[in-house]
Amino acid sequence: TDVSKSFPIGGYFQKGGRRKVRILNDVSLDVYEGETLGLVGESGSGKSTLGRTLLRLYDADSGKIEFDNLDISAKNRRELRPLRSKMQMIFQDPYSSLNPRRRIGDLIADPIRIHGQASERDIQVRLRELMDMVGLSHSFLTRYPHEFSGGQRQRIGIARAIALKPKFIVADEAVSALDVSVQAQVINLLMDLQDELGLTYLFIAHDLSVVRQISTRTAVMYLGGIVEIGTTDDVMHKPAHPYTAALISSVPSHDSTVSKSPRIKLQGDLPSPLTPPSGCRFHTRCPFATAKCAAEVPLPRDVGSGRMVACHFPIN
Ligand code: SF4
Ligand code: MG
Repeated sequence: TDVSKSFPIGGYFQKGGRRKVRILNDVSLDVYEGETLGLVGESGSGKSTLGRTLLRLYDADSGKIEFDNLDISAKNRRELRPLRSKMQMIFQDPYSSLNPRRRIGDLIADPIRIHGQASERDIQVRLRELMDMVGLSHSFLTRYPHEFSGGQRQRIGIARAIALKPKFIVADEAVSALDVSVQAQVINLLMDLQDELGLTYLFIAHDLSVVRQISTRTAVMYLGGIVEIGTTDDVMHKPAHPYTAALISSVPSHDSTVSKSPRIKLQGDLPSPLTPPSGCRFHTRCPFATAKCAAEVPLPRDVGSGRMVACHFPIN
């Protein structure tokens, strides 16, 4: 609720404080138990920062983060420890997050050992169980990351993420580096594991077609704020925010007979978060912008059937 996050960028203001850039701007978002919430937006919109801030890998400047009805925003490292196992992350490139000099079995067992929950014998049993769950051979456990393909490495990353039986997983561009056919396999695996383990996902991706395959609801982010949230069907077929419509138009397979959205071509680049536009942050690129848009921040409003949109003149 109302989560903001900025980072120092080097240098100081004349008055003495450090210069900062604000990457999250009063973001409010619910993720419901058992769902997959897709999070889309151009690179630089703040998606990864939001995912990491929710998991308390970054400390928010302000706002409140609740997990399982528990306020985790003010908890310190020690208090967070028992919760860490419940919240995990899957990264885009598991290769860079897997130490190349360590065996797969050790890499997957790390989180279990760190949390000190099991005997070595139990760990070996659990490792085999995890390999079965992600569809990899037990013989891989004694091998090294470089011996595997991108898809296999992502399965290893997933095994590591589920090792502690989490409830909530942030998948940040988890399939973006993979070929389309491998993407589909990894998405299927994530969906199977969700059913089996009762997982909740925040699925971050810049690729809308990937998000459409896996997400029940979709949230759209622009320059540090959520501009639209709704069921994936609604958001993809009847976008209410002009920015969502523009994102959908940019997908090559955009079929105007299926989508009721107008074709909108995105002009220019994402403005710098150092100097965000006044009023609606999208007004510098929006074909429907009026004087009001540059002057007044559009507050998120409920437009029915669980849809939220932050725009003075929503479409559809
Ligand atoms: Fe476009 Fe105005 Fe809506 Fe912003 S508030 S998206 S500028 S119409
Ligand atoms: Mg990112």
